[in-house]
Amino acid sequence: MPHAIRFHETGGPEVLRWEEVEVGAPSAGQVRLRQTAVGLNYIDTYHRTGLYPVALPSGIGLEAAAVVEAVGEGVTELKPGDRVAYAGGPLGAYAEARLMPADRVVKLPDSIRDETAAAMMLQGMTVEYLIRRTHRCQKGETVLWHAAAGGVGLIACQWLKSLGVAVIGTVGSDEKAALAKAHGCTHTINYRTENFVEKVKELTGGAGVPVVYDGVGKDTWDGSLDCLSPLGLMVSFGNASGAVAPVNLGILSQKGSLFVTRPTLMTYTAKREDLVTSAQALFEVVGSGAVEIEINQRYALKDAQQAHRDLEARKTTGSTILLP
Ligand code: NDP
Repeated sequence: MPHAIRFHETGGPEVLRWEEVEVGAPSAGQVRLRQTAVGLNYIDTYHRTGLYPVALPSGIGLEAAAVVEAVGEGVTELKPGDRVAYAGGPLGAYAEARLMPADRVVKLPDSIRDETAAAMMLQGMTVEYLIRRTHRCQKGETVLWHAAAGGVGLIACQWLKSLGVAVIGTVGSDEKAALAKAHGCTHTINYRTENFVEKVKELTGGAGVPVVYDGVGKDTWDGSLDCLSPLGLMVSFGNASGAVAPVNLGILSQKGSLFVTRPTLMTYTAKREDLVTSAQALFEVVGSGAVEIEINQRYALKDAQQAHRDLEARKTTGSTILLP
């Protein structure tokens, strides 16, 4: 029987268990996948801790590359043997084999290796919608990106550079600053040792930035608002340091008629056409070499506990994969 990581109660990494699972044949509209590489994402820790509630017991993980083993009734776009990848759909990507709704899966081009796909689909499609749809980043703009040396961060730095957008990136260490710079980040700020608001003001001649991309959450929220120019857009897309506290809307008027959005990849790829367009855009920037996917950590899938520990301890950089 295949194995998967599952959890029966919320908590620390120790709740993740390596278990045998029954997969079965695909129902109508489903595919059965043999998974070749699984992506680790910060959202996995929110499911595990209960910050984002899920029904228990539960599988975990939202992203993988795989080979189609069998297709259910009505599935016409995929056949056994196809190489595919996904980011989203039902939890349960941390598995050797699984069923998936066929309409959440995309075929992989020959140029994209399985490990690369598992490392980039969720983080890369997130960057796609954040910089092309949540705010259409324009050549010549300067944006602030928190955690610039992380998985989403390194993809964002490179993609934005290719568009002619300057990135001010915050990072938690000098090594991470060097890594972000090597991936196209224009200016870095070590927000553990420097006041990032003062630094952003200095770098922008006092003007601030038109948009802040903040996946850090609790610790950076207040400072992020102070980095925005009038009518600026605060894109709060994650909670690596904890959830943002309830907000008094009046703060947005006081700080210059600001806009705020709290977007998720799931909304931006809910329609099949949006999922395919987003994946295609990612395949293009990776295929052209504009964006390189930095896989800086690999773990055996059964060692997912350790991968979660390292991610939450800020020990990882770039993308991380788990190998079945
Ligand atoms: P990362 O690889 O970026 O890891 C998180 C990073 O956050 C850490 O490496 C660390 O970098 C930084 N960080 C700052 N404070 C803390 C803290 N207290 N504890 C832990 N980490 C901290 O993760 P991902 O690339 O997977 O995701 C980045 C963010 O984007 C996450 O918040 C994630 O939830 C969000 N996200 C949101 C999506 C959406 O659609 N809304 C989709 C995908 C991701 P440093 O040491 O440099 O500070």
